[in-house]
Amino acid sequence: MITYSLGLKNKFRGITVREGMLFEGPAGWAEWSPFLDYDDATCVAWLRAAQEAAVDGWPEPVRWQIPVNCTVPALGPERAAEIVRASGCRTAKVKVAEPGQSLADDLARVEAVRDALGPDGRVRIDANGGWSVDEALRALKELSRFELEYVEQPCASVEDLALVRRHTDVLVAADESIRRAEDPLRVRELEAADIAVLKVQPIGGVRACLEIAEQIGLPVVVSSALETSVGIAAGVALAAALPELPYACGLATVAMFTSEVVAEPLLPVDGFLPVRKMEPDRALLAAATASPETSAVWEARLARVEVLKGSAE
Ligand SMILES: [Mg+2]
Repeated sequence: MITYSLGLKNKFRGITVREGMLFEGPAGWAEWSPFLDYDDATCVAWLRAAQEAAVDGWPEPVRWQIPVNCTVPALGPERAAEIVRASGCRTAKVKVAEPGQSLADDLARVEAVRDALGPDGRVRIDANGGWSVDEALRALKELSRFELEYVEQPCASVEDLALVRRHTDVLVAADESIRRAEDPLRVRELEAADIAVLKVQPIGGVRACLEIAEQIGLPVVVSSALETSVGIAAGVALAAALPELPYACGLATVAMFTSEVVAEPLLPVDGFLPVRKMEPDRALLAAATASPETSAVWEARLARVEVLKGSAE
């Protein structure tokens, strides 16, 4: 069992270093990497996901190639177009509603991405909950001229998502509204989304996600929680096992790390990720190993969460 500490090229959720634990079980390697601001109770599901990977393994795939989107940060139009062209992906997720920017900035960026992809590419936007209901409806009215695949988390609350959905023709995806296993049912109850973004670790494993996908009856977009290739492989396993996969997944995030733990990281080729097992490389693993102090923090955290998980079962 090792604790890793890897640099990120850009700040993500306020962090520039990603930490987590990697361990090997009879079924293969697993990653446990709940964000440090999450409390122990929340981390139980993340541990279930890791133990599934290490002990049980994943269900049989029904496909061997997973389409993924590239992600375009809130940059200017020229840079946005470059990112799309360099990615090789046919689906782009464009960040919008960035604090300090205007709707004109979003329009310029989305237009540049649409031009770079051409008419048969797919453009989705992600507001990360940054709009009010009114702002969302105003923005969608303008942005929909670029033929949006969907808008991800236009507003912060599930109630507001439901309101936006009732007043726009653009499909709505719930992302931040789904952080725990019980959340998708709330999204369904309020009819707040057309699409559910699911992440394996927060929901508690590939099988838990498959069950939820069946219960909510919405198309699923599998997304990462910014894991190393070891953790991303679990998302790939989910995407590979879903009966239907109508949308590209948000699993092309390994490039956000400055280095990796596997020799052949899960990076997209022509917009697809392969379905395969991940095994860390010894030298890379050694280089990624956290300091004894950081490792001690994670070992203590794991011990507490194991106790909580045991008492919940
Ligand atoms: Mg999102």
